[in-house]
Parts: sequence; structure tokens; C-alpha cells
Amino acid sequence: MTSIQIRIADSAGFCWGVERALRLARDAAAGAEGPIHTLGPLIHNPAVIAQLSEQGIDVLEELGDKATGTAIIRSHGVPNDVLQGLMARDLTLVDATCSFVKAAQEKAARLREEGYLVVILGEPTHPEVLGIRSYAGPDSLVVEGPSDLPSRLPKRKVGVVVQTTQSHERLIALVTDLLPRVRELRIHNTICNATERRQAAALAMADTVDLVVVVGGRNSGNTTRLAEICSAVQPRTYHVESADEVDPAWLEGVHMVGVTAGASTPPEQIQAVVARLKEYAE
Ligand code: SF4
Repeated sequence: MTSIQIRIADSAGFCWGVERALRLARDAAAGAEGPIHTLGPLIHNPAVIAQLSEQGIDVLEELGDKATGTAIIRSHGVPNDVLQGLMARDLTLVDATCSFVKAAQEKAARLREEGYLVVILGEPTHPEVLGIRSYAGPDSLVVEGPSDLPSRLPKRKVGVVVQTTQSHERLIALVTDLLPRVRELRIHNTICNATERRQAAALAMADTVDLVVVVGGRNSGNTTRLAEICSAVQPRTYHVESADEVDPAWLEGVHMVGVTAGASTPPEQIQAVVARLKEYAE
């Protein structure tokens, strides 16, 4: 196996919001007196969560009544009632909710106030979507595509907001379906620009290589979306969490490998995968 080249996507790995959340968490841990918790994993990357645990930052799915110390809200945000409950407690609160997520929450709340039926394009059980839905109201709909819409929509004006890590293709498919079915449709494209840049760079790269390796947590929605986007143009696309998952057999007959990574993937994980690919390519 000779002369395999490796190309890393122009935009890959940690985004601004994740870097900020990690900085806030580490700063809080450095100055904290008492226990320090994140509500759910700070980011969807098991290796990073293990490092934070070594720094004394524990993951709690729910803060029990007796929890003390510092609570960190992750970049995905939390439902409004959870936020209000946290603010009412005797805890030090560090809010690392990404500003793009806050914007999606605010758009959902505004649509609700203005009488729109809010349709959220996103993964129904994803924490970010649960948070946005708390602002959109209990009658809001969460869909992953047009097939999740009810066959008969209520006779109301409809507003769309989008989980920040969704793809344009999914948004276009939803809007195309909705447009002929409602009298008024308002669309807030709340896909964040870090996601847009990573998806565009991954797509451009996937088109020029024989094999794509996407690096990041399997529980990371934006990493999974990158893998979907790359698979659509390059069927030889593999999603790995670590360099150990790279299989030398993938390189058979390959001249150019493309590597990309989700917004929650640290640079050292990308470099480890690249190093392993180089090792196998020699
Ligand atoms: S992917 Fe986008 S919304 Fe999510 S943390 Fe990063 S910048 Fe914020």
C-alpha cells in the first residue's frame, strides 16, 4: 500500500461554543469550593468527559435535592423550568449554553407568543431539542423530516425553528413539504454557522477522496450528521470515536483519505486518527 494522501477538512473539530463550555467548566473547577457537576455530559465526547472527571467535574443526569456546590449548564442548554429551578437554588450556576442555542430558544418563544404552531426540526430526545421545546410550548411538534408531520395540520400559522446541528438538506425537505400545506409559514434557520461550515467543508472534501473517516462521539448529533452527509457522496465513510477503531483493511485500493470531525471532537483525537492512518498507509 503506497502513496496514500490524507486530507483534513478545512473546518473540523471543536467549535466556538464547545471551547467556551470547556473553558467555563475548567475555570469553575479551578476556583470551586465544594462539588462541581454538569447537568448531563458537558459535550458528546466520552474521552473528554473522562478527562473532566479526572479534574473533579462529575456528570449528573439530574441534580438531586441535596446537591450542593457548582452546577454547569452545558452548551445544549436546558428546558426553561429546569433553568428556573436551578436559579432558585443555593447553587453556584455556570451557564455554558451556546448563544446559537439561546437564539433558537428565543425564536421558539417568540413564535409561540405570536400564535404560531411551532415545528422544531430536530432529534426528539436530544437535550437541545427538549430545551427548545420548553420555549415552543406543549403543542409544538418535533420532527426529523416531513414524514413525521401529521397528515392533517391544524389550521394555524406555522413557524419553524431548527436544532442548531441539523443539515440544510433536512430543512429544505421540511419546508418544501410544509409550504403548500399552510397559509402562513415562518422559518427561522437556526442551524449554527459552525455546523454549516463543518458540513460544507466535509461535503467538499468527501467529493474528492476515496475514503472518509469521521471522528467523534457516536452520541454526538453533529458528528453523526457529518457522517450522513459524507456517506451520501462517498459510500466508503466510517464514523470512529478513536484511532483504535481504524481498520487497515479500509485502505485497500485507496489513494486519498479525507478526515473530518464533529464540533465536540478535540484536536488530539483528530491527530491520533491521522497518525494511525499514516501508520497503516506506510
Ligand atoms: S455546534 Fe454550534 S450550537 Fe453547538 S456548541 Fe458549537 S457553535 Fe454552539
